[in-house]
Amino acid sequence: MKEKRGLIAFDDLNLNIITPGFCTLCGACEAACPVHAIRIEENKIHYDDCSDFLDFCPICYDICPHTEPLVMEAMKFVASAPLRRSALGYYRKIILAQSVNPKIREASHSGGIVTSMLAQAMESGMIDSAVISEAKPSTPLTLKPQIGLVPDDILSAVDSKFSPSSVAKAFGNAVREYGKTKIAFVGVPHQILAIRKLEAWEHKIMSSLEVTIGLFCLWIFSLDRLLNYLKERHHIEHSDITRMDLTDKYIISTSHGTVELPTEEIMPHILNKCKTCMDFTSELADISVGGAAPLENWSTVIIRTKKGEKLFQNAVDAGVIRTMRIEEQENTLTHLLSMAMRKKMIAREEAESMRMKGVAIPPIDQTLIFLHRDRSVMADTKVRDIMTKEVITVTPNITVSHLLDIMTRHHHMGYPVVNEKDELVGIVTFEDIMKVPKERRTDARVSQIAKKKLITATPDSSALEAFERMRRHEIGRLIIVDPSNPKKLLGVLTRTDIMHALGREA
Ligand code: SF4
Ligand code: SF4
Repeated sequence: MKEKRGLIAFDDLNLNIITPGFCTLCGACEAACPVHAIRIEENKIHYDDCSDFLDFCPICYDICPHTEPLVMEAMKFVASAPLRRSALGYYRKIILAQSVNPKIREASHSGGIVTSMLAQAMESGMIDSAVISEAKPSTPLTLKPQIGLVPDDILSAVDSKFSPSSVAKAFGNAVREYGKTKIAFVGVPHQILAIRKLEAWEHKIMSSLEVTIGLFCLWIFSLDRLLNYLKERHHIEHSDITRMDLTDKYIISTSHGTVELPTEEIMPHILNKCKTCMDFTSELADISVGGAAPLENWSTVIIRTKKGEKLFQNAVDAGVIRTMRIEEQENTLTHLLSMAMRKKMIAREEAESMRMKGVAIPPIDQTLIFLHRDRSVMADTKVRDIMTKEVITVTPNITVSHLLDIMTRHHHMGYPVVNEKDELVGIVTFEDIMKVPKERRTDARVSQIAKKKLITATPDSSALEAFERMRRHEIGRLIIVDPSNPKKLLGVLTRTDIMHALGREA
């Protein structure tokens, strides 16, 4: 038997991703492989030993969305956006939108924004093709990747996904087989990350990427397992399912009615990797699109980059979509934030519990959650160099609804509370607001809900100490105070500030 050479990335990919069951069949490794040694067929990865052709190749491991390399580099595609929320990532604007065409809205089960933007971009020549996923009406949960070449091809694009689809592989085919040079790519968060990693790698097929559209994604399923379960336990056939919604519960609409299941019941059927995935809104896409619950027939749109803005504006200017300010729908914004935070929280808890049990964790989550690789950089970085110094504060006597207005305007999730003597007296966060019933928000004061016990650090602490303190106290931000006067506020440090700083170091 031929001896394996040590520098072939597929060996690591197999060991760390495929064998432990973390592969989500995105197809990026197939698209990237320089000698076409990897193929995805029948929902399985097939591999012809590439060491027959190459002595050294790192690419398939590096660009897999579940491995640690290139993550910081991938973030740079969106990091110039002026706004950032820990729940949603970087962005320029959040808006509600819907297609003016009711048939498109009906087919999409929401605002029909992905279809409308793509069809208009194709009409106007902004793109020459789109990589999408499509489902047959008779088996709506089985997806297959498609390359849309004319506007009519786009009409069957799904804008929510519940099962794997090898769209990154289809992107490679759009370039190599169809010679497309202005491609729009539509995918869920891990598929967008795979495309961003390919861009960061400067893979030659990426010069054909025009824009990425990310779909909101809670989790996707191992389809066979899920369908067997639904059939055996709830007597639901795949062909009866007309629609699925995954929010705080799992809603299956069939030709006979609607069945609602708690998410815990279907958790065992989600893909292994999804259990530790922290990205709900496709944080690295040019533009992200998802539902606008509790509103029906509208989509939430998060514009993150100038490319995303251009795609969206092109559809608005052509009159194919209409918009509404998200600030007019407080419940939609609240729902979006709570879904995004919930996914991150479940992922962190799951990763922590897997770690305690000694079970393998996808390498990317080790990086994102525990930041092992960057501990030495963090130890050498001072809080004073990465903290936010221009801090927006609130006073104790403003009402909770006033505070909510401030949050909506400034897009921060937590505010130090400072009294009339300019002394730091507490901190108030979005979670504190959510505990106040809606009807009480015009009367309740910040002083009644703010936390008085502050977790602080000083400017001379290291980023590593600060990060460990956040982890220990399970919080997302630290208040930075003057070491000689703990009531004097000097700044705020968030987990994202640390990640951002590490990104600059990378
Ligand atoms: S790149 Fe995609 S298809 Fe390849 S191993 Fe990773 S998740 Fe699976
Ligand atoms: S939950 Fe994450 S890993 Fe799972 S399908 Fe969605 S984006 Fe991919």
